[in-house]
Amino acid sequence: MSIPHGHISNSGDTAHKADKARIHRLLTGMDVPDNAVPQVYTDKDGLPVTYTATRTPEKKVRPDEISVLWHEILSPLTVIKGYVSTLLELDSAINKDQKKQYLQGIESASNRVIRLLENLRDITRLEETDSLITRRISLVELLRQIVFEVQSQTSKHVIKITPSLHLPLVKADPEKIEQVLSNLLSNAVKYSPQGGDVEVEVRTVNNEEQLSELYGETPQVKLPCFIVSVIDTGVGIPEEELERIFERFYRVDNKLIRSTPGAGLGLYICRLIIEAHGGNIWAGNGPGGGGVFRFSLPLDRIA
Ligand code: ADP
Repeated sequence: MSIPHGHISNSGDTAHKADKARIHRLLTGMDVPDNAVPQVYTDKDGLPVTYTATRTPEKKVRPDEISVLWHEILSPLTVIKGYVSTLLELDSAINKDQKKQYLQGIESASNRVIRLLENLRDITRLEETDSLITRRISLVELLRQIVFEVQSQTSKHVIKITPSLHLPLVKADPEKIEQVLSNLLSNAVKYSPQGGDVEVEVRTVNNEEQLSELYGETPQVKLPCFIVSVIDTGVGIPEEELERIFERFYRVDNKLIRSTPGAGLGLYICRLIIEAHGGNIWAGNGPGGGGVFRFSLPLDRIA
């Protein structure tokens, strides 16, 4: 039996628990789940129908996602174990510089596992709760800070910011927006292995006309808004993969990507964060073939 369409409202008091369980069984043929939330649906004739639904639909982890996870956890741990065993066995035979090199290898492999686990923790939080802590922030200030951090990790790239003048403050979660900017900029560097320029652009867009004039075809974004673009000169993204790269654990399957560490979670996290702010995120390729990532933050969030 299908659930009637109509308005849904939370109501814990309207029916006795046993009645709800009975009606639930009647409607679905199933027992009430432990994490059930009591709700009242009003059917098309305006009559209340009590039904119980789980608060969050269960998002199953697929077998291919689990194999990415194994790989992403096992490979850095194997590297760490290898370096530690070498250090233990050959301690007196290796010089100070080699020792430093091994320790740096251990540090970077440990960071890779930590990053993965932090990403998984963030996904759980973002998928299940509205975990934004917003305040008035200057997007340009935040950008300068992230650009400085990412720039200090590469000498092969030059990261430039082109902010439009007089940008207003935006009401957003600074840590989360920082995470988005940091993921996009790190990807721009990671997927331009030959080096090159990375351009970061921020603009305010007030209407459809301005939107299509500046960006051509875009997804439907809530206007007015800020649009932040991160443009690189790297390998770019195959056209048919442009939407899929925002899916959980999705990576483009080619030689470069396979040899570059990553679990395909960064862009998924960016999408969860931007959508939680009421914005959109999308990707394309620049005229020179590099990746172009843009996201919007609606101006109605401006304080
Ligand atoms: P990860 O980098 O860990 O694979 P992401 O979710 O950040 O995960 O990215 C998903 C995929 O999107 C990447 O594996 C890569 O194929 C593609 N991608 C992301 N950013 C870029 C970029 N700037 N240029 C080209 N491809 C990119």
